[in-house]
Amino acid sequence: MQDFTGKRVLVVGGSRGIGAAIVTGFAGAGAEVRFTYSGSREAAMELAGQTGATAVHSDAADRQAVIDTVREAGALDVLVFNAGVAVLGDPLELEPDAVDHLIDVNVRAPYHAAVEAARTMPEGGRIITIGSVNADRSPLPGFAAYSLSKSALQGMTRGLARDFGPRGITVNVIQPGPTDTDMNPAEGEFAEQVRSLMATGQYGTAEDVASLTFYLAGPQARGITGAMHTIDGGFGA
Ligand code: NDP
Repeated sequence: MQDFTGKRVLVVGGSRGIGAAIVTGFAGAGAEVRFTYSGSREAAMELAGQTGATAVHSDAADRQAVIDTVREAGALDVLVFNAGVAVLGDPLELEPDAVDHLIDVNVRAPYHAAVEAARTMPEGGRIITIGSVNADRSPLPGFAAYSLSKSALQGMTRGLARDFGPRGITVNVIQPGPTDTDMNPAEGEFAEQVRSLMATGQYGTAEDVASLTFYLAGPQARGITGAMHTIDGGFGA
């Protein structure tokens, strides 16, 4: 693990799962870390206590709260937008409000967070969002809204890489496949079906995804931008 001493990092959606692994790694590597939470106050407080990171209550579905939280964090070296929700099911049956909430959290919020962060981000800055392999492959019914939200991050990433590249800021999206978290437990109801679609047949861990985040955040990744980085056990192969 490289040294991030002196780097200012904000993880949007850091209380649990992949986000918590990212918070833990950056804090352990010396960064000054803030992370947001919405529903999981207890988990957020515990993580803050364990890592020394600062927990901030901020609902990613609230556009102004997202912008204010990024602004209040000051000039960031690294923004990781990890918050995400899954709304799965027959599109003819899903509640329109639930689908709109997903779009607010998974698409609208990362766009505004990235743009707000870029206002003050120094040269060498990093904007990383956590997308999904479902942006490229959506093999099961019931994923249309979720997949559309993760595909949108690809266009955003390419576009913002062009906008901020001249300032030495990179913009990337990490696309996990099945990863053992509350959202997609390795022993969950659909896990066997999901495993059958993978080359490895093995769920990834939150730490696997976090390690790719640290690589992209480091100086060695300065030439990597506008790109999708899939870590999916061959789900998309
Ligand atoms: P979890 O459900 O385990 O954790 C989700 C995190 O997002 C929590 O910290 C949660 O915080 C936060 N979050 C959700 N809604 C909001 C909100 N409105 N405001 C602020 N924070 C919010 O999910 P994972 O760790 O599995 O997922 C992390 C990311 O990885 C997501 O973007 C997901 O789509 C993506 N992903 C996950 C895969 C998997 O198999 N697990 C596969 C591919 C992509 P809180 O509880 O405090 O609200």
